[in-house]
Amino acid sequence: MTGRTKERAWAKLNLCLDVTGILPGGYHALRSVMQSVSLCDDLTVSVSPGEGNIRVGTNRAYLPTGEKNLAGKAAAVFRDAAGLADVDFAIEIRKHIPVCAGMGGGSSDAAAVLRALNRLCGTGMDTKTLCKLGESIGSDVPYCVLGGTALAEGRGEILTALPNMPECFVVICKPKFPVSTPEMFARIDSAAELPHPDTDRLVDAVKAGDLYGAAASMGNVFETVLPKGQREIASIKGVLRSSGAIGSVMSGSGPTVFGLFPEREGAEAACFVLRQRYRETYFARIPKSWDEME
Ligand code: ATP
Repeated sequence: MTGRTKERAWAKLNLCLDVTGILPGGYHALRSVMQSVSLCDDLTVSVSPGEGNIRVGTNRAYLPTGEKNLAGKAAAVFRDAAGLADVDFAIEIRKHIPVCAGMGGGSSDAAAVLRALNRLCGTGMDTKTLCKLGESIGSDVPYCVLGGTALAEGRGEILTALPNMPECFVVICKPKFPVSTPEMFARIDSAAELPHPDTDRLVDAVKAGDLYGAAASMGNVFETVLPKGQREIASIKGVLRSSGAIGSVMSGSGPTVFGLFPEREGAEAACFVLRQRYRETYFARIPKSWDEME
């Protein structure tokens, strides 16, 4: 078997993220409306006759290669599920999604590899099967296989596809302070009281195609447990709002913050201001349809 294909790995944002309890096994139960945005990594995936070896190269020297990279892990999971022991896999990733930013970059690369290999190897696995394979790689991978707008529950593997969010522009800003996801979960566990976001209201707004209602319903429980003195999130939100954002929220366990804009001009203005202070500021959009992005 020989072949090569290209695949895009879209970044994800959490329009809403809540922790609703603890699952059997000790995992946190999540409830999140996830959204793909036009910022993406570009992957080239190749197969050739061989012995099941996996090679991963990226334009970020600090990222792991081979099966330690989530994209390589996805190739291994796919190889074993499809019984392809006589094929070598080569994956080249051009990263654009910021790393450790709460934007699911690694998970999205893994999902892109599953989609690309399924196509390239003619294995004909359906989306449900690919999502199931994704579960063993990481809790955001099943969503990333689907993409678009979706409600994720459980550990992230119980997915309900939602109508696409109305078209809008997104400004994404990653401040420099590091965030440890395990530490953020520990803060959630020890919080006396948590102000939970209204996920149902957001889902209803998305279903109604109501961009303003959706933007106003965004929320993230992790934002409420950020270390005290962490004022940068509020200051970035202030810039987003004063440039015309109709809603802004932190994504994942942080530290990335984003704002939604109905107009391109406001988003470009916010980008211009934020880039002077934060190198990792990105302009993206949520398209009317993901088909137009292929
Ligand atoms: P999430 O939003 O799903 O929590 P994240 O945006 O916080 O993810 P990633 O950028 O996906 O985090 O990377 C997290 C870790 O995974 C990093 O330590 C990185 O070294 C490792 N990693 C493995 N493969 C990849 C990849 N293809 N791209 C980015 N990071 C990867």
